[in-house]
Amino acid sequence: MSSPIPKSVIDELRTLVPDLAIVTPNSPDYEASIDRWFFLSVKRAGAVVFPITAAQVSLILQFTRKNSIPIATKGGGHGIRGESSTEGGIVIDLSKMKGVRVEGSKIITRGGAIWCEVYDEAEKFGLAAVGGICPDVGVGGFLLHGGYGFLTSEHGLGMDNMLEVEVVLADGSIVRASDHENQDLFWAMKGAGGCFGIVTEFVLKGHQQKNEVWTGKMIFPRTALRAVTEMGNRVLESQNKGHSVLGHFWVYSPEGMMIEATPFYNGPEDEAKKFFAPLLELNPVVNKAKMVPFSQSGASATAPGKWRKLSGARSMITPMNADFLEERMDEFEEFLNTVPDAREQSVVGFEIIGTRAIVSVKQNETAFANRGKHSTVRIIPVYSKEENDEVCKEWCLEMERKFQKDFEQRQKDPLLDEVTRSSTGLYLNYDGFGLSPNKIFGCNYERLVELKKKYDPRNVFKNCVDLL
Ligand SMILES: Cc1cc2nc3c(=O)[nH]c(=O)nc-3n(C[C@H](O)[C@H](O)[C@H](O)COP(=O)(O)OP(=O)(O)OC[C@H]3O[C@@H](n4cnc5c(N)ncnc54)[C@H](O)[C@@H]3O)c2cc1C
Repeated sequence: MSSPIPKSVIDELRTLVPDLAIVTPNSPDYEASIDRWFFLSVKRAGAVVFPITAAQVSLILQFTRKNSIPIATKGGGHGIRGESSTEGGIVIDLSKMKGVRVEGSKIITRGGAIWCEVYDEAEKFGLAAVGGICPDVGVGGFLLHGGYGFLTSEHGLGMDNMLEVEVVLADGSIVRASDHENQDLFWAMKGAGGCFGIVTEFVLKGHQQKNEVWTGKMIFPRTALRAVTEMGNRVLESQNKGHSVLGHFWVYSPEGMMIEATPFYNGPEDEAKKFFAPLLELNPVVNKAKMVPFSQSGASATAPGKWRKLSGARSMITPMNADFLEERMDEFEEFLNTVPDAREQSVVGFEIIGTRAIVSVKQNETAFANRGKHSTVRIIPVYSKEENDEVCKEWCLEMERKFQKDFEQRQKDPLLDEVTRSSTGLYLNYDGFGLSPNKIFGCNYERLVELKKKYDPRNVFKNCVDLL
């Protein structure tokens, strides 16, 4: 198969950047190079290039600009909007740009690292970072568009812990951005980073993490939904130094719907068991919670390649209403009975993280506009047959609409705090259906557009989000 990019143009790139690995459609590793976690994110690139240095990224960007070739930036490849893929253009794949080092309390990672690499290195120094719960996620997409992790309840979003970044801008210039240098760019990088440049180095706050953490999967019958929801509300509102997280997923079983919950507590086991006592008293069918090193606390979510996955997401303002959730669970079960192909792997999930540190930052202090006292709801139909694409999409969108309606109604509460009232309730990193940028960036949208005109007037990074 030939590339839509003429061979002469690829040869010119080879000459310009001699050591650059380039994969084209007739290379044996082409299919692997365009593979992505979400099947809808797979697109047939004209070429995939693997820079190692910022200088190489700079040359590539100058070259694609001169030749008017569209680009996509790829970090860990977990993006669900197809934003790290391009139909016919060049993917700038950072997966060979590896390396994590620790300097004092700072963790410095190169642009293509994934979270498990950061955790492993940081742990040698008794440190941890606010990173992905799933250890295979790329640091890039996670940090630049938010970042909800196990340590978020203590230390805020991943991006709140960025101290400095090295960025290659659309014109090829290599700059640094922080609270002291290019402050406006740094503001934009915290929430809309992928639209402003390619980050080749992140400097992150490391946090003391000498103790083990208490976590592990528990399984409950659906009758526990009310109690699990109440526990979730306690977690969301917890002020106990923010040490708590509770993820839970609704899953199918032939005996009826089940709830898979994963509590997380960053502290001694007795304290953890006291805090999560309402869960333990429910006598979970399975209970694997125990003390583990922080680097072992997450779990990969790699459904085998045959699965087609969609991703819907919304937010639920605290306190979450158990009656409302009972109805949604009934509908989920009904959907799985109508589409048995989706039974094995589909989930409706709740990422419930203490919000104390998130809402301690104002909504316009960073480009991210989804701060609030709410949990994230994920609606993920997973199925195998193409013929079910439409029915799964329709169900997913319908669930989104119901959660959205609840969110908007709750936002009208005059007693709601300022930050939650101004929240979009939408998380770019979980948006599977291409929401418009003004919806995603809410009160920060206009400032972002102005900065985009300054830093990327030709909209080179429109693949991430088209801001212009
Ligand atoms: C299984 C799974 C688990 C997840 N778990 C979590 C979680 O615990 N918490 C959470 O908040 N999110 C989570 N996410 C969402 C995840 O944070 C986003 O999908 C994120 O964008 C993935 O980043 P990536 O680098 O792996 O993706 P990619 O697809 O490689 O990139 C996504 C976007 O980020 C940009 N980008 C990536 N790296 C760079 C860089 N160095 N410089 C500039 N732009 C860059 C790309 O341009 C692209 O627009 C999860 C997603 C999946 C699929």
